[in-house]
Amino acid sequence: MPQRLVIGNWKLHLTAAEAVALASAVAEGLGGFEWDPARVGVGIAPSYPFLVPVGQAIGGADARVDLVAQACHPEPQGAFTGAVSVEQLASVGVRRVIVGHSERRRVFGVDDPQVTRTVNRVLGAGLSAVACVGETLAERDSGRAREVVLGQLDAVLEGVKGSALGRLIVAYEPVWAIGTGQVATPAQAGEVHGWIHERLASFDPNGSQVPVLYGGSVKPGNIAELASTPGIDGALVGGASLEAESFLKIVQGVLKAS
Ligand code: PEP
Repeated sequence: MPQRLVIGNWKLHLTAAEAVALASAVAEGLGGFEWDPARVGVGIAPSYPFLVPVGQAIGGADARVDLVAQACHPEPQGAFTGAVSVEQLASVGVRRVIVGHSERRRVFGVDDPQVTRTVNRVLGAGLSAVACVGETLAERDSGRAREVVLGQLDAVLEGVKGSALGRLIVAYEPVWAIGTGQVATPAQAGEVHGWIHERLASFDPNGSQVPVLYGGSVKPGNIAELASTPGIDGALVGGASLEAESFLKIVQGVLKAS
């Protein structure tokens, strides 16, 4: 069975002091209940400038919480003003990188070929990639959800070489559910997770061990049902990760279901 995980994506939110306070509250809160990172891994993804202080707040190199970056550029170095490479992220203790989030695709023009190259670079550097896939409402309404999600997944898998698959995490994030409060039903999410798991298993014999997270309006009130749905191995959480209390409740929900 794949590892279960909960990752908080803080997006473009918080000041440095707020980010450090939230990271400390999450780390402290996790100590308050029977949390075993081997059962449910937990990660937090602050903005780039806060990676170092947040990394320190959660315990540095020995942290039980994973330091996660929200994105990275596929090139290792060069004339790419404003970009950050995976090597730079690794050098400050980042363990996982979110790749191809729908907001990166929509707002910053990240496309499938760039996702392929970035997944390849992140995994090649020994980090874990949290690769996001998901259809828009128009694509779902026109019956194209499967085609779109599996097309994006194929672009992700093109970047995976050999044993690097063990460091891949996939997040199914229907675009229509992100930040809208309109969560996918367990039936809707479960169906898509089934397609993804099937494709991963046909890609490689170890594909069945790749965790597939659900993301899109996950809240403390809906995590129990989602986490107990077959094929959902955890959550990528946006809005509800910005408060320690709601994020910790989501972690507890996944723990209970595991
Ligand atoms: C996200 O941005 O990855 C996300 C899932 O956001 P939210 O939980 O706010 O829908």
